[in-house]
Amino acid sequence: MRIQSDCVVHLRYTLKDDQGELLEEVDLAEPFIYLHGYENIIPGLEETLDGLQPGDTFQVTLEPEEAYGPYNLQFQQRVNRAEFPEDMDLHPGMAFELIPDHNDTNDVFGKAGTGLIFYIKEAGGDDVLIDANHPLAGKQLNFIGEILEVRPATTLEKDHGHAHGPHTEH
Ligand code: ZN
Repeated sequence: MRIQSDCVVHLRYTLKDDQGELLEEVDLAEPFIYLHGYENIIPGLEETLDGLQPGDTFQVTLEPEEAYGPYNLQFQQRVNRAEFPEDMDLHPGMAFELIPDHNDTNDVFGKAGTGLIFYIKEAGGDDVLIDANHPLAGKQLNFIGEILEVRPATTLEKDHGHAHGPHTEH
């Protein structure tokens, strides 16, 4: 079947940035699986894949606007190292989910919002530079890939709004 809303797609791909640097490689052994038509993947890729079928290959270059959005400097913030647990080994690239504590009005992260993911950009000094931009924000993305399998989603998958893997419900 062709890729359309309410189907589960298995694919493999390589993802490179505009410098040609490999960002991600998903191969046959562990394909990427998603439910099509639910905005589970970036818009430019979902649009590219629509209508393809198993065996089809694709190659697409996506500007940030069609991918993870532009890079926003305002999403960077310096916070005191003391805001993090003392024994935590902080290093660039670490991801945190921010759960604001509404009882703590001094919460430095409070204005950032609920359930926001942010990344450590620089650590090591008295300050830690955190960044709420997606790591791929502002990047041009180059995908090359192949459709491996397309099947109708189950009722449960449609209810949940995501695909279930072969070995596990989630
Ligand atoms: Zn589920």
